[in-house]
Amino acid sequence: MNRRPAADDGPWDVVVVGAGAAGLMAALFAGRAGASVLLLETRPRPGAKIRVSGGGRCNVLPSAAAPADFHTSGSTASLRKILSSWSLAQVREFFAGDLGVPLKREADGKLFPRDDDPRRVVRGLLDACRAAGVSLWGERRVARVALRELPPRAGRGGGRDAPERGFALMAAGGATVACRRLVLATGGLSLPQTGSDGHGYALARSLGHSLMTPYPALVPLLSTDRRWAELAGVSLTATVSAARGGKVVARRQGSFLFTHRGFSGPVVLDMSRHATGPEGEATRLLARWGGAAAPAWDPLLRRGGARPLVALLSEHLPRRLAGRLVAAAGLDARARPADLDRARRLALVALLEACELPIAGSEGYGKAEVTGGGIPLAEIEPRTLASRVAPGLHLAGEMLDVTGRIGGFNFLWAWVTGRLAGEAAAHGAAPRLGG
Ligand SMILES: Cc1cc2nc3c(=O)[nH]c(=O)nc-3n(C[C@H](O)[C@H](O)[C@H](O)COP(=O)(O)OP(=O)(O)OC[C@H]3O[C@@H](n4cnc5c(N)ncnc54)[C@H](O)[C@@H]3O)c2cc1C
Repeated sequence: MNRRPAADDGPWDVVVVGAGAAGLMAALFAGRAGASVLLLETRPRPGAKIRVSGGGRCNVLPSAAAPADFHTSGSTASLRKILSSWSLAQVREFFAGDLGVPLKREADGKLFPRDDDPRRVVRGLLDACRAAGVSLWGERRVARVALRELPPRAGRGGGRDAPERGFALMAAGGATVACRRLVLATGGLSLPQTGSDGHGYALARSLGHSLMTPYPALVPLLSTDRRWAELAGVSLTATVSAARGGKVVARRQGSFLFTHRGFSGPVVLDMSRHATGPEGEATRLLARWGGAAAPAWDPLLRRGGARPLVALLSEHLPRRLAGRLVAAAGLDARARPADLDRARRLALVALLEACELPIAGSEGYGKAEVTGGGIPLAEIEPRTLASRVAPGLHLAGEMLDVTGRIGGFNFLWAWVTGRLAGEAAAHGAAPRLGG
């Protein structure tokens, strides 16, 4: 059974900062490993982002996952090692078996709680944390962290051990707590009203870590050209490519949505990091309307016919988009394929097959589902998520330089890294756990 410290100010075996998906998991697994665990959270209630996720239903997991579903600017070998520490099947079984939250699979492969209630996920995690002896303090935003020499403890042989190095944390309300191992799971900068205000990066930096510049990812994009806004509400399948220096560096097909301010939908969110990330300025996003199912446009237009172009294109695309593309090609709304000279036909084909999306930034962290960049994977040990910079520190979740694509991959990352960091932190404190 885990042992609480004599006083609230510790030293605790493990303090976890941030009661989001990764932090709840870290606290739970550290508690189950026998450590005394304190979980500190800015918000009055934990798991704010879980409760609003997945359109209010929480897309807990994908039904299949591979390292290619994630992005890091660090080592893919480290990414692979971390992901393989807990298989998707095991995570799913953990939700159904351990937490009592069975998941259902939807047609697109996403897994949701069977009753579509994200509160079940939070409740399941909180009940399990409670059973594992975890103490949770809400409204305790950690403002500062410092290295601290901890008083020696009685050793196994009855003598006193040498002093240990641990951490002291200063939290809102003047609370100061000490711990032997520290897990930072403070998220990134996305949806800051849920508590993830980016301060966790400052805490990690104060302990010696560096930071890959954060940027909004999985985020709707803004358009420089107001004319696309006329299509607000139109949605269709599209293949979006990211091109840099004349080369396509990424391509994805999915549902595309025009908005009043620009572009959204799963395929835009998934590709947005190419526009908002470090190489965004040098990257062009190109859309093939209709995706792989679209016809070969050039032969179709060459075959001609007496019907107006807009009617012809509307057989394959939403009518409003067809009209907009014909106008963008400088053609009259009543123009027919037979009216096109070669140059105009090719201009229209280019707009249909590789239409450049005029991007003027993104909707920002207020709308971004995750934050790209973060603490570099090179600065953590992948088997334990222990810091290579600050001994005794572990890092988990979105604050690391890894993002997943839409579909439950970001929660998968949070669950897997939270468990790994929590267990390793507890075992790091373990030589003296029984002392
Ligand atoms: C609208 C929206 C919908 C989403 N839907 C999905 C989805 O359906 N499926 C999916 O896989 N992903 C989804 N995501 C992404 C997913 O929510 C995140 O990837 C995941 O929550 C990250 O978990 P985390 O624990 O690392 O960070 P967070 O969930 O952000 O948790 C960090 C916690 O740390 C606390 N904290 C921060 N700083 C401090 C501090 N200094 N002191 C104390 N506490 C602190 C915060 O208050 C917060 O509770 C969605 C994101 C958003 C914004």
